[in-house]
Amino acid sequence: MPRERDKDWRDNLYGEIDKYNLVENLENCLQCGKCTGNCPVAAITPSYNPRFVISEILTGNTARLLESEEIWRCFWCANCYRVCPVDIHFPLLMMQLRFMALENNYGLKYVKPINKYGFRAFDKGLTFVPGERGVQKINRLRTSIGVEEWPEVSEKAIAEYRAIFEQTGAIEWMEKLEEMVEKDVNFSLERGGVTNE
Ligand code: SF4
Ligand code: SF4
Repeated sequence: MPRERDKDWRDNLYGEIDKYNLVENLENCLQCGKCTGNCPVAAITPSYNPRFVISEILTGNTARLLESEEIWRCFWCANCYRVCPVDIHFPLLMMQLRFMALENNYGLKYVKPINKYGFRAFDKGLTFVPGERGVQKINRLRTSIGVEEWPEVSEKAIAEYRAIFEQTGAIEWMEKLEEMVEKDVNFSLERGGVTNE
């Protein structure tokens, strides 16, 4: 990848990421580092640093963030939010940052494998549908504890579920995702800097 230049930075990156106004106070970040100090991912992955991610967003370092593998490490435990002295909801910021990365064809490899569960939910009303033998096993277990056999998902429930997928635009997004092609990742955020992979 060509060297990143200041003209590549986006002055309004924060606004573009937080387009749903879920984290309106990011500019209050004190850069105190309590989020990083209490993050279980940062404890075992020195290159992962929520405080640094916020700093990069406010600076507008688009390429570094969107191409970074680091933004896929957070698992939304919200410990950073719990300890933040100014109540910055980092997990919601991360959710939107990933969405923006996906829209730019990064990180698809993490999301595409679970897309099939979304399609299954759309078709059957369940993300997980066991085979015939699986259903027999579940029913044996349910009978043994005195519970009725596993009920079918009703057509009405499936229709309601589909309506949610359609009205929120989720199904459209899932179909689009299938067609998208992953862009190569070139940058990785490392402690104190950025390295080419
Ligand atoms: S704990 Fe809050 S204020 Fe401190 S660096 Fe993290 S987000 Fe910023
Ligand atoms: S929500 Fe993400 S960034 Fe925050 S503490 Fe948990 S893993 Fe770390």
